[in-house]
Amino acid sequence: MTISMFDTFISPKAAEYVGRVLDSTYVSEGTKVREFEEKLTSTLGWINPVAVNSGTSALHLALVLAGIEPGDEVICPAQTFVATGLVILQQRATPVFADIQYATGNLDPTSIEKKITKKTKAILPVHWGGSPCDMDEIGTIAAEYNLAVVEDAAHATGATYKGSPIGSISQFTCFSFQAIKHITTGDGGAVCCLDKSDAKKALAKRWFNIDRAHSLPSILGERQYDIPSPGYKYHMNDYAAALGLANLEGFEERLLRRRKIASCYRKAFEDMDGIQLFESSAHRESAEWIFGMHVQRREDFIRALQSRNVTASVVHLRIDHNSCFGGKNKDLPNQDQFNETQINLPLHDGLTATNVLAVIDAVKAGW
Ligand SMILES: *Cc1c(COP(=O)(O)O)cnc(C)c1O
Repeated sequence: MTISMFDTFISPKAAEYVGRVLDSTYVSEGTKVREFEEKLTSTLGWINPVAVNSGTSALHLALVLAGIEPGDEVICPAQTFVATGLVILQQRATPVFADIQYATGNLDPTSIEKKITKKTKAILPVHWGGSPCDMDEIGTIAAEYNLAVVEDAAHATGATYKGSPIGSISQFTCFSFQAIKHITTGDGGAVCCLDKSDAKKALAKRWFNIDRAHSLPSILGERQYDIPSPGYKYHMNDYAAALGLANLEGFEERLLRRRKIASCYRKAFEDMDGIQLFESSAHRESAEWIFGMHVQRREDFIRALQSRNVTASVVHLRIDHNSCFGGKNKDLPNQDQFNETQINLPLHDGLTATNVLAVIDAVKAGW
């Protein structure tokens, strides 16, 4: 059997937890969502997480709360999944693609500064593969030019930067609980808000911007409310939260195991010809969502591994070539190079010790 790129981790307790919610018949947003949010804070150190129905919804909601309006510009990398750029278009704003660092795949702070115009309102860094961006440098630029920072941390559940959890650093940090992310709720996401007032707004806006706690029904049977500005149907529901609660148990051990596997790969490949490992540093603890590196003759590499029953994948190529984003940018030299040589090896909860050795052997056999 071929060793797959991804694996969906479902806790053995999931069926019981979700089953209890189904038995209760209360399947919409309720106490389980609240409990899940509290557990995200106590387990992962996330600040004021507001649970929603996808990572994409979390990103869009964060842009709304950051005040992004039609005509504004948001600086982001092209090395990401299309959701990052599409939510900017959803606000009728313009994604402006800055260059990345070849050694990490993350936004290059010096390129961000060159892309700032009068219309720039926010920076949207993506922690590619789970390795944190240069948040100090990005924070300094944001403060200097009065820009919001909205982190796309879809790959970074469990990552830390200089000892602080991703999810506790910028005004807004967005996570995904999609099927192949670290923790899944089927589909789901969360936006973490440093300011309690933003979290309050997010709670209302995820449900049509109706203040549920203070909108009691009249004798006529409908809640009484006034909607001051648009809200969305973005809330998480209780059976998704129950799945999330089950999958969150034991997360720390699973993350440590991912880190161990990544360190085995690093040791095995650090001196190999034709491979350049990504840069890692002690103050940047990666969530190790995927194991990325650069290889020479990438297609030969993929075919050689395939013949040895190991999957290798780019996971995502650059997104700026899409027509909706205006076509491929010509001034991103590191992105150009990254796009040609990056590749990822299997790294997930389903890998056995034998699988890990098989991946290492498959690479060491050459291409
Ligand atoms: C998965 C992902 C998203 C979107 O998350 P969904 O939960 O699928 O909406 C956004 N950005 C990146 C970088 C992702 O990998």
